Amino acid sequence: MISYCPICAKPVYFAERKRSLGKDYHPLCLKCYRCKRQLSPGQHAEYDEKPYCNHCYLQHFGPRGKTTFN
Ligand SMILES: [Zn+2]
Ligand SMILES: [Zn+2]
Repeated sequence: MISYCPICAKPVYFAERKRSLGKDYHPLCLKCYRCKRQLSPGQHAEYDEKPYCNHCYLQHFGPRGKTTFN
């Protein structure tokens, strides 16, 4: 079964897919939408269908003043 990458909308084949948060990404597409850092499956946040690293997510969408991540 082929799924489609939510970032580039192209098919993701089983051998190359990186599955995270219920979606299949290309290895090169699974990166923070803001800072372009490579992300590990299951180790990142998501907002509006876009993957973000935890740092960027907290800075932009998280509660202000919290310093859970350094
Ligand atoms: Zn892709
Ligand atoms: Zn980031």
